[in-house]
Amino acid sequence: MTGIDDLPIRDELRGKSPYGAPQLDVPVQLNTNENPYPLPEPLVARIAERVTEAARGLNRYPDRDAVELRTALAAYLTRTGKHPVSVGNVWAANGSNEVLQQLLQTFGGPGRTAIGFEPSYSMHALIARGTGTGWISGPRNDDFRVDLAAAEKAIAENRPDVVFITSPNNPTGTAVEAETVLALYEAAQAAKPSLVVVDEAYVEFSHRDSLLPLIEGRPNLVISRTMSKAFGAAGLRLGYLAAHPAVVDAVQLVRLPYHLSAVTQATALAALEHTDTLLGYVEQLKSERDRLVTELRAIGCEVTPSDANFVQFGKFDDSHAAWQRILDQGVLVRDNAVPGWLRVTAGTPEENDAFLDAVRAIKKEQS
Ligand code: PMP
Repeated sequence: MTGIDDLPIRDELRGKSPYGAPQLDVPVQLNTNENPYPLPEPLVARIAERVTEAARGLNRYPDRDAVELRTALAAYLTRTGKHPVSVGNVWAANGSNEVLQQLLQTFGGPGRTAIGFEPSYSMHALIARGTGTGWISGPRNDDFRVDLAAAEKAIAENRPDVVFITSPNNPTGTAVEAETVLALYEAAQAAKPSLVVVDEAYVEFSHRDSLLPLIEGRPNLVISRTMSKAFGAAGLRLGYLAAHPAVVDAVQLVRLPYHLSAVTQATALAALEHTDTLLGYVEQLKSERDRLVTELRAIGCEVTPSDANFVQFGKFDDSHAAWQRILDQGVLVRDNAVPGWLRVTAGTPEENDAFLDAVRAIKKEQS
């Protein structure tokens, strides 16, 4: 039978598996950092209205530059990010994964390299591979914070074209201080003018402010964001970036024409009209996240301090076996292959209670 490797695919894709968390049909799914709250009914109705309007024009291609949507995203960033940005600073695509892919198509590619500080979001390395960009795995401390001296050294030695800084980081939940990002930016510019991408997919859940103001006067700094987490709209596929307008011009060299459908643009605009309600859910999730941290510690787990909508907990002698034992009790968490550790997404209070009961049970078995 013909398999992938019998096809004339690129050598670097041979023997590889696609990215993907197991999608299992279990009662409590806390494995993909989604927002557990369905969109509120008034927003669902507004989406239907906006999409109906868009449907009347589907014989035409959508606004290629998504100007209305980028203007609304700029207004949201200006309001929440403590820094004024305008439509020219903002670019949007189908999820922040596509934003990151467009950045690597523009600033990475064959003969170029990107660095990330691992463990971190594994798609950074996979998008690098998909775009033919060499990947460099940079270090972290034992407590999962970026080790500044080691990171500066890795940048100076490797002279990457793109530097990824994930804050808050996935899967560890740790945020990166502004001073560290500034030092890494300086190191990256001194080694070779390179693009520094701060992936802020989870920043709305952070105890700290967005690093958005740092784009001022730093044309090689990009902030990447998403509506998948705080806006509770993972199914929408809408990510965006904020940067110097030259970066926005540059990614347009690689974007496919009309990449954002009229339906996507209409839906995202409707969601942005309901920003305040959706940010209210974020506050609830932050307090549930903090409760998970407190209760996991009370159960006797180690927990990495979290600025995100998930918590890394451990330590288990065999984290995959622990993952399975939690799953056996109907709760799906994530094994990110960080030895000794698992990750749980903050769900509804009831889901979190079910998860905590499952961990209590496996701790009891172990003692
Ligand atoms: N960045 C990080 C750090 C993430 O964890 C994720 C999603 N898991 C993304 C980006 C991509 O999100 P999306 O494509 O849904 O915007």
